[in-house]
Amino acid sequence: MTNDQLWQAILGELEIIVSKANFTTWFKNTGIEEKSGRDIVVAVPNAFTKEWLEKKYHKLIVRSLQNFQPEVRGVSYVIKSNQSKPTESEPIKTEFSESKIRIHPQLLNSDLNPRYTFDSFVVGYSNEMAFAAAKAVSENFASSYNPLFIYSEVGLGKTHLIQAIGNCVLLQKRDLKIRYATSERFTTEFVDALRKKQILEFKNRYRDNDILLIDDIQFIAPKEQTQGEFFHTFNTLYQNNKQVVLTSDRPPRDIRALENRLRSRFEGGMLVDISLPDVETWLAILQEKLKNENLDIPSNIMEYIARNIKNNIRELEGALNKILAFTKMKEEIHSLKETSRILKTLINEPQKKNLNFQEIIKSVSEFYGISVKEIISKGRRQEIVKPRQIAMYLMRSECNASYPAIGQQVGGRDHTTAIHSYKQIEQLARNNPELFQEIENIKERLYA
Ligand code: ADP
Ligand code: MG
Repeated sequence: MTNDQLWQAILGELEIIVSKANFTTWFKNTGIEEKSGRDIVVAVPNAFTKEWLEKKYHKLIVRSLQNFQPEVRGVSYVIKSNQSKPTESEPIKTEFSESKIRIHPQLLNSDLNPRYTFDSFVVGYSNEMAFAAAKAVSENFASSYNPLFIYSEVGLGKTHLIQAIGNCVLLQKRDLKIRYATSERFTTEFVDALRKKQILEFKNRYRDNDILLIDDIQFIAPKEQTQGEFFHTFNTLYQNNKQVVLTSDRPPRDIRALENRLRSRFEGGMLVDISLPDVETWLAILQEKLKNENLDIPSNIMEYIARNIKNNIRELEGALNKILAFTKMKEEIHSLKETSRILKTLINEPQKKNLNFQEIIKSVSEFYGISVKEIISKGRRQEIVKPRQIAMYLMRSECNASYPAIGQQVGGRDHTTAIHSYKQIEQLARNNPELFQEIENIKERLYA
């Protein structure tokens, strides 16, 4: 067996054991550098990979190697860079590559985002429990993990995981009935059903399922009647041995206004939390995100981003999107100095001043040359709808304001309008460098 054959065999084994995202992140561009007697030296592309393999995968690697060559004792790692650097002449490609993702027809009819899969979820110390529980549920539900309750701060992967369960179940067992909804949607549909006298339909929609996934359950708490309905939905499912999965931004005991009977139901299942990732996991997530963009960013810049963005993964994605937007505008980014300039508004958070809603509304209206009155009016002209949505977006992204509060500030609108505006602008800015730049300019003025 040559070194290459041996390593291919090892990779074949590891690929089955670790998640796909972890596998490509940590084992791509590795190889056997040298084998002498009982010692093997593994070549890795950079310092992060080296550290990670030593810390996390060393035992696994040794064990796999010994399966093939029992005499192996020592395994060490060396950095051999330049394994797959983009060449100067290779143009940077930036189109979004949605088409690379295989979409099952049934997925198109569900509210699940096909990108949120177990394969694209990077596992590290901070989330391995939640990942394992989610996987267990998708393979063998209504088990002892019922309900499965996942909680964490914002942007750490709850929605990704709960949807991954849905996607996984849909793909594997197509005869199962599954429903995913945010608690906000559950609430809206319930209220709607009451109004239209279609409550029976509503009940069936949520109770007649093998697996019910409710995202952000904390928002159900302030609404008594909806809570009551959810309690009965939950009981029906539970009694029929159906699986329920919930996510929340805090554990059940900290959800205010949650009825005791629901709280004890939630606590009776499996509670897992996700904490902040470490730098290696950040980096792996960054690389995972980058894969979808067909874009190569030099590894020192990646490391810089991973080390400097600490709060949540949305922020990390924000950083990445900034870099992408700049490359799309043909501004090449090659130096760290450039990167730090671009990321200035994200990093060095402490310098941010506290904005208030009025300042945001005022800045946005000035920027677009319309009046504050127009922004908060009921008017639907495009010239004012867009600034209005941007104002709501900024209240969320810069002040982390609640959706009901945002709606309130902007002409007493409904919280669903605020949610819609935030999501719409976030999505548009990601694909449209001009809009992205406008928002950056407004922010610059706000923080000036
Ligand atoms: P939450 O619901 O907890 O607020 P999300 O699931 O919306 O967080 O995650 C925010 C973003 O970060 C999503 O794009 C998600 O795909 C990504 N993300 C979070 N955790 C991971 C992970 N471990 N691996 C890959 N992507 C992740
Ligand atoms: Mg979420």
